[in-house]
Amino acid sequence: MKVLIVEDERPAANYLKKGLTEEGFAVDIASTVSDADDAIEIANYDVVLLDVMLPGGSGVELCREWRQRGIMVPVLFTTARDELKDRVAGLDAGGDDYLIKPYSFDELTARIRALLRRPRPAVAADISIGGHVLDMNRKRLLFNQTPVPLTAREYQLLEYLAINCGRLVSRTALWEHVWETGSEPDSNVVDVYIRYVRNKLGDDGKRIETVRGRGYVLNCVSNSHEPYL
Ligand code: CA
Repeated sequence: MKVLIVEDERPAANYLKKGLTEEGFAVDIASTVSDADDAIEIANYDVVLLDVMLPGGSGVELCREWRQRGIMVPVLFTTARDELKDRVAGLDAGGDDYLIKPYSFDELTARIRALLRRPRPAVAADISIGGHVLDMNRKRLLFNQTPVPLTAREYQLLEYLAINCGRLVSRTALWEHVWETGSEPDSNVVDVYIRYVRNKLGDDGKRIETVRGRGYVLNCVSNSHEPYL
């Protein structure tokens, strides 16, 4: 079982690593948001212990991003008592549980074991879009096993349509997932990016159907229902 500890206080992180290693876990440490994000792209973790207040951003926002990208690894937030608000936000953002600092090591291992016993949500790892394959584990689009270059934005757009395979996705929903939440959706920008993605898909571009006045549907097939991480 592999655990990622995301914690900027080194002594605390080292203490947790030592304890969890003695319990038989394989443990990595990340101390910033970007380190954590890199780690999650490289290794498959069974659980992430995620501090809420981190250099470079918030653990809550990071978790929200992971969920939007289809990364469903169980997340256990760790937060100070006076960050009560963040606890709620953390669960809203797709966190699975939280611990209030200071917590005992026994409490931590009990929570981790409880998370590991939970069934994982099934997320398709590969999605076929005609002759193309969207490999969500590696975050790339393949055609004849060759990667098709996509910008980060284009990838996110296509992935969000793919996660919603066969379902109508409104321009507003696309805007909120691929651009920013809280700002006024710009339908023209969404339409322009849909065009870019269609072009990248070549003949399979027609699999992104326009539903007039409502949004888009991607006609695709999920190849696997294995847990994602
Ligand atoms: Ca912190």
